[in-house]
Amino acid sequence: AIELRGVRKSFGRNEVLSGIDLAVRPGEVTVILGPSGSGKSTLLRTINHLEQVDGGTVRVGGGLIGYRRKGDKLYELHEREILRQRARIGFVFQNFNLFPHLTVRENVALAPVAAQHRPKAEVNAEALELLARVGLADKADEYPSRLSGGQQQRVAIARALALRPEVVLFDEPTSALDPELVGEVLDVIQDLARGGSTLVIVTHEIGFAREVADTVVLMDAGRVVEQGPPAQVLDNPSHPRTKAFLAHVL
Ligand code: ATP
Ligand code: MG
Repeated sequence: AIELRGVRKSFGRNEVLSGIDLAVRPGEVTVILGPSGSGKSTLLRTINHLEQVDGGTVRVGGGLIGYRRKGDKLYELHEREILRQRARIGFVFQNFNLFPHLTVRENVALAPVAAQHRPKAEVNAEALELLARVGLADKADEYPSRLSGGQQQRVAIARALALRPEVVLFDEPTSALDPELVGEVLDVIQDLARGGSTLVIVTHEIGFAREVADTVVLMDAGRVVEQGPPAQVLDNPSHPRTKAFLAHVL
C-alpha cells in the first residue's frame, strides 16, 4: 500500500506539488493523468525518494519513506537505508534505462544479487522465469541494443519485478515507443494488474486507464483535482479541469 499525506515539493520558487494526498491499497492499480508540467513525474519520484519532499509524508507498506521520525521532527535516512527502501519499490522509466553493456538476463539479475545479496543461481533462474512472463525467454542472452523498444521496455519491467517489489511505479512507460509497440508493453502491465500487483502508472493512454485502473487521478498544477473509478473520472467528470484535459486528449 502507498499513502501520501500533504506532500509538497518546490524547485526554487516553483511549487510543483502543493499538498498531495493519495492512497493506493494493496493490489490496486492507480493511473495518474494530467497535463505536461502538472507534477506527475515529480510525484512518482517522491514515492521512492528520488525527490526529497519539502513537506508531508510518504509511506509504502506502512513505513515512512526517506525519513525517520524523532519526536515531532523528521530526519533523512542514510543513503544505505534509502537504497534498501528503494529496492522494495519498482520503477519503470519512459526510456527503459537498461545497462547497455549487460545482457538482458544480466540486466534482470543484477540488482537482486548486488543489492539484495540473493544467491546468484536462484536469481538467474528467476530472471529466466520473469523474462518468460514478459514474452522474452528467447532474448535472455542478447544485448539491449539488439532489441526493439517494446522488447527493451518489457526487459525493464522484468528487471523491476526481479526485486520482488511491494509496488511498481511506471512513468509514461509507452510514450517513447513506436505506436505499433505500445500494445505489447500495455499487455504486460495489464497482466501484472490482473495478477494482483500494486501499480501506479503515469500515462496518456486513456483507453488503457479505463481498462486497468481501479482509481484514476487527475493532476493539475501540483494538485489532485479529481480522483475516483474510471467510470466516474473519465466518463462523468465533475471538475472543469478534468473536462478540459479529457477534451484535449480524447
Ligand atoms: P510531463 O507530462 O511533461 O512529463 P509532469 O507532469 O511529469 O510533465 P514534472 O516533470 O513533474 O511534470 O514537472 C513539474 C514541474 O517541475 C515542471 O515545471 C518542471 O519544469 C519542474 N521540474 C521538474 N523537475 C525539476 C528539477 N529537477 N529541477 C527544477 N525543476 C524541475
Ligand atoms: Mg513526466
